[in-house]
Amino acid sequence: DLPAIRGDVHFDNLVFEYEKGRPALKGISLEVKAGQTIALVGHTGSGKSTIMNLLSRFYDPVQGAVKVDGIDIRGVTIESLRSQVGVVLQDTFIFSGTIRDNIRFGRLNATDAEIVEAAKAVDAHEFIMSLPGGYDTEVQERGNVLSMGQRQLLSFARALLADPRILILDEATASIDTETELKIQEALKKLLAGRTSFIVAHRLSTIRNADRIVVLDHGRIVEQGTHEEL
Ligand code: ATP
Ligand code: MG
Repeated sequence: DLPAIRGDVHFDNLVFEYEKGRPALKGISLEVKAGQTIALVGHTGSGKSTIMNLLSRFYDPVQGAVKVDGIDIRGVTIESLRSQVGVVLQDTFIFSGTIRDNIRFGRLNATDAEIVEAAKAVDAHEFIMSLPGGYDTEVQERGNVLSMGQRQLLSFARALLADPRILILDEATASIDTETELKIQEALKKLLAGRTSFIVAHRLSTIRNADRIVVLDHGRIVEQGTHEEL
């Protein structure tokens, strides 16, 4: 098992291909200190999601290694890795069930009080309480009880409850009204605080607030630095 980690991440010369002879990553090296926020940007197909797929071990590299606190993640169980590496997907996954269950999915033994606390922290409590059944409101996987922004806030509450040391977030591109956008920015700040985060970033605000921006192109890092530097 992976012991409790600080959250240092080292991508060490990663090469990866989904299909033989068509490399999606052509030698990615990146060292990230625990607690930093990294924004990954680049054209479609440049390799952003692929790097994140290797960090959560949906695939293993053809060459090179992903190390967490210096430990090659191929040497630990997937369960122990994923308990400390959390993923918030772009089309924020909501399943059919109550709002409470959807948040609790982050940590199944969470108490009701902890669920409310997480929802409050990301400013989702108010809209949840305005629903007819509050936290017991039933939502559908593809239903429209929740707006896109509300679905995002719920997924943030779930991630906050899970409290992983390393967080991967594929930012949604959906257009959202200004008020919700501000809420999401605030919620994101809380969610990222104190953990190592990789965000496939689309919002300028996210990119601006990142400690480092990494620009990918055709499976290589072509530029990196802070928003001021780039
Ligand atoms: P986007 O901004 O569109 O999400 P991305 O930067 O996340 O793009 P990746 O999904 O990492 O890009 O894709 C990198 C390369 O790998 C692309 O050439 C893509 O076509 C290829 N690829 C991605 N997923 C698969 C897959 N499951 N099978 C085969 N090829 C894939
Ligand atoms: Mg992608």
